[in-house]
Amino acid sequence: LCCLIIGSDGSGSSTSATRYSEILGTARKAFLQGKPKSVEFRKKQLRQLHKLYEENEDALVAALATDLRKSRHEALVAEICYAKNDVANTLMHLKEWVAPEKPPKGIMFLLDDVSIYKEPYGVALVMGAWNYPITVALIPFAGAIAAGNCVVLKPSEVSAATAKVLADLIPKYLDKECYHVVLGGVPETTELLKERFDYIFYTGSTAVGKIVRAAANEYLTPVTLELGGKSPVFIDDTVDMEIATRRILWGKCMNAGQTCVAPDYILCTKEVQDKFVENAKKVLRKWYGDNWKNSPDLCRIVNDRHFQRVIKLIKSGKVAVGGDSDASEKYISPTILIDVKGTDPVMAEEIFGPILPIINIRSASEAASFITSREKPLAFYIFTENSATRKYLLENVSSGGVCCNDTILHLSVETLPFGGVGYSGMGAYNGKYTFDTFTHTKGCLARSMNPLGEKLAAGRYPPYNEKKTKS
Ligand code: NAD
Repeated sequence: LCCLIIGSDGSGSSTSATRYSEILGTARKAFLQGKPKSVEFRKKQLRQLHKLYEENEDALVAALATDLRKSRHEALVAEICYAKNDVANTLMHLKEWVAPEKPPKGIMFLLDDVSIYKEPYGVALVMGAWNYPITVALIPFAGAIAAGNCVVLKPSEVSAATAKVLADLIPKYLDKECYHVVLGGVPETTELLKERFDYIFYTGSTAVGKIVRAAANEYLTPVTLELGGKSPVFIDDTVDMEIATRRILWGKCMNAGQTCVAPDYILCTKEVQDKFVENAKKVLRKWYGDNWKNSPDLCRIVNDRHFQRVIKLIKSGKVAVGGDSDASEKYISPTILIDVKGTDPVMAEEIFGPILPIINIRSASEAASFITSREKPLAFYIFTENSATRKYLLENVSSGGVCCNDTILHLSVETLPFGGVGYSGMGAYNGKYTFDTFTHTKGCLARSMNPLGEKLAAGRYPPYNEKKTKS
């Protein structure tokens, strides 16, 4: 396997690992010459990225359909428009984000200037995952540009059609010295990670996240790891079950459950479970008709390997809803499992498919104990109208983020950081947090040479005495 690199010439020629050093060399030279640093340059690049989305909507939608059979609606709402809005928001605020901050200062520094400067790291590597191959690649990519870095983008080889479109389009719209797209699978990525980057932003599985962090360690490169995990849902009997059912199933069915913050499993009482299952049958029939496989709104599992992995999980517990599949199309129907135990295979790993197991618990505290006995999830969904229960769960369960009485939507609040904790990741992004992620905050004290200041601080100079020490 050779890798395709869209480098400074945009030619996409076949090449070996030595080309990575050339790419890094080109990017580093551009960075050291200060090319990506001026705010005007950054804005121009971001406007170009916006234009790329506008002018190539159909090509991007088609690539997402090839990779995941994403509907046009999901492609636009969860990927293209989402990423485009992020660029628009960054363009609107960039000037204020880049400006040095003036933090409060003590009396001793009254005559001095105390500032926090925003400095790009240098050359950043952004590695994307296949499930949202546009958003998880291009939102951090745009953030790295906004912060003034040069960037090497490595889209996932699993979503090959989208990766190819990005590799074709990015050099046509953006500066070819500062921004590069590298295509390839595990061997190529392994080589790429041997290079010295100034920042690495990785989205993908926890297992590979560890590999990326170990590689980054070689040069003490800071990393953001956007990983996965099993995001639980707690529901009690205080909520409107029709609304709760719709909101949970929407989060689970989007992208056929291949969403990092998809509700992974439900914790509720047997009584709540019965109502949920009853409502779910009605909701799914309304959304997808009598033959769900024919609905254009259900995505497919990304490849055979993942299809085989997910289909085995249906064997845990008992199928209450769905349970159909078609290997030739990589289709798995939305499926709800009941009578599931914490020790079943479906509870051992992140499902990343349209299967929704329900585990019965009797109380919020039992739910909290269940979740905290496992790795910390990326998201936690609390469905309750009881404020004491909500407070208890918020205070006693750690997770990357929380959404109460809905699923997934916390990601679209651009003023909230999005990221994991523990095995679900480290660092965060979204809106200004993305800019901050790719920015080194350089604290600077600029002392005044005013003799009055010198007199005020004279106590620091020897010879020391008790009076000076006390002052
Ligand atoms: P993937 O297979 O596309 O891998 C992600 C990236 O890692 C790709 O660029 C790939 O080339 C690279 N990679 C894979 N194996 C590697 C190896 N051995 N060495 C070096 N690089 C390697 O995606 P995935 O890991 O299957 O992604 C699914 C996971 O990503 C899920 O756990 C999901 O929850 C998580 N995810 C998290 C977020 C988030 O924002 N937190 C978003 C999307 C997906």
